[in-house]
Amino acid sequence: MKISDVKVHVMQAELKEPFGFSQWWFHKRSAMIVEVITDEGLVGWGEAYGPPEATGAIVEKLYKPLVVGKDPFQAGVIWEELYNRFRDYGQKGVMIAALSGLDIALWDLMGKALGVPVYRLLGGAFRNEVSAYATGLYLKQRDNVPKELAHEAECHVKAGFKAMKMKIGYGYERDVVYVKAVRDAIGPGVELMVDANHAYDASSAIRVGRGIEPFEIGWFEEPVPPEDIQGYIEVKDALSIPIAGGECEYTRFGFRELLSKRAVDIVQPDTCSAGGLSECKKIAAMASAWGVRYLPHVWGSGVALAANLHLIATIPPASMSANPIEPIFEYDTTENPFRTELLLEPIIPQNGSLKIPQGPGLGIDVDRKALSRYSCK
Ligand code: CA
Repeated sequence: MKISDVKVHVMQAELKEPFGFSQWWFHKRSAMIVEVITDEGLVGWGEAYGPPEATGAIVEKLYKPLVVGKDPFQAGVIWEELYNRFRDYGQKGVMIAALSGLDIALWDLMGKALGVPVYRLLGGAFRNEVSAYATGLYLKQRDNVPKELAHEAECHVKAGFKAMKMKIGYGYERDVVYVKAVRDAIGPGVELMVDANHAYDASSAIRVGRGIEPFEIGWFEEPVPPEDIQGYIEVKDALSIPIAGGECEYTRFGFRELLSKRAVDIVQPDTCSAGGLSECKKIAAMASAWGVRYLPHVWGSGVALAANLHLIATIPPASMSANPIEPIFEYDTTENPFRTELLLEPIIPQNGSLKIPQGPGLGIDVDRKALSRYSCK
């Protein structure tokens, strides 16, 4: 079996209602879907995180000419060859995100060719379903933010979620008021995590962390910029809240720093950005060796959800014991037609859990009508 063609689908959709966080406001959603076609007629799907115009051009103009004619079962070799060919220009960022999208499509193809789900090729599943937490609780252009957040949090509980993550990073006073509003709304029995999207320096993050410590926070995500490893260490040393980060980091080489310095308690590579399934499996092994929990960052279409579900199925519990700490899956609840419309059978949590897809490859069917409806070209 040989790769005969690689297509990219750059997609965009305007949002009905914009939403904001500590960095900017979202007015539209976008996605870049990779389609790898073989001479045997099989099609594999992947997704790249980040600016779709850039990742799409990288796959189409730089990677495609080097992979057409190759055997998709050489996925690990293809990864190393492409990384090495372009490492002078991009050890992080869109080059690696584009490589991730291509790599995921090759794993989908391998699974389809053999008639087995991707998680079996990755070493087998510890679980057939995984608990999900709701990512949401962004700003909306409405009055009375604490009341709006409390209402949304109650909706997540009603939908069956037993854990959720809210945005912070708006300054000490607002963060404490918003976190209190959400904790008061959901009560003590629901897990609550916070995410500052690297809005702070270390001393501000420590002050905010101390202010929200009384509200039983599951983890404090991206307190400081991703480049500031020493800042992560200072925040982690100062707070009792577990510290999470890694969605802006790439490849085993990038995660080597974060892990070997024990800068985080929880590492969050994005499979569609950090290097695809080939690389994230290696990063997960490194996290295990350093005693750091691995919980993927997930943000994208149904293709991204499926790739991350196959990977999380293969992540061992944080402790192998009678009462193991199981991984938990990030489920974005904000408006995103690519999550809800791109797959013929969308991946939707039931009672706060997601099933690992069981079909061959990623176990998904892409709706070509939805693909063309939102494609920019
Ligand atoms: Ca995040």
